[in-house]
Amino acid sequence: MANFQTHLSVAVAGGALLAVSGWHAALWPAADAGPLAALTAFGGILPDIDSDHSRSIRLIFTLFAVLAVVGGALMLQDRLSPGALVVACGGLYVGVRYVFGSVFKRFTVHRGIWHSLLAAMLCGLATSAVSYQLLQQNAWMAWAHGIALIIGTLIHLLLDEMYSVDLVGSRLKRSFGTAFKLFDYREPGNSVVMLMLAAGLAPWLPPWQVLIDLLAQGSRLWR
Ligand SMILES: [Zn+2]
Repeated sequence: MANFQTHLSVAVAGGALLAVSGWHAALWPAADAGPLAALTAFGGILPDIDSDHSRSIRLIFTLFAVLAVVGGALMLQDRLSPGALVVACGGLYVGVRYVFGSVFKRFTVHRGIWHSLLAAMLCGLATSAVSYQLLQQNAWMAWAHGIALIIGTLIHLLLDEMYSVDLVGSRLKRSFGTAFKLFDYREPGNSVVMLMLAAGLAPWLPPWQVLIDLLAQGSRLWR
């Protein structure tokens, strides 16, 4: 399996390539290229969120904790005194980084459900919904954010799969086929829950027609 450093550098390179070529093709303005590259890079480490000892999980939950603190501070700043705000933000950080992080670790298996195309799709849809509803992005950019995250996770899954081919002896290692999968075959129940979550996001998603237009314009990049 590819290590953390490989995952991060390939995803950062892929994200930069995606963001810059989309900007060249006038899919988005230059100012939107940075967040798109960052989302691709984040997607590139996201599937290893369930590996108990990896650096990905620490980094991912630290990022989640920072986001929670920023969001919490914005929402609570008018309601709390400065002292109480600091305590609340500290609590949010510890809660997300350590409590949520260890609960998540307790209930997930590495290369389980999070290491699948279904999870990539769910995370991409959630990103588009958050971007559209909470961050007030227009439909076009909201879909682009979701797609950037999905592309990052695809890069991750493909890299893991490539590393399970023994390049010297050209034999397949036993891990071949565990990285890139549609859903988690061992835990069909979890996959059904994920599908239901994805369907539940539908009311918050930007209009589908915009996604179709974005994909149609984006596909012209390759011709
Ligand atoms: Zn992986």
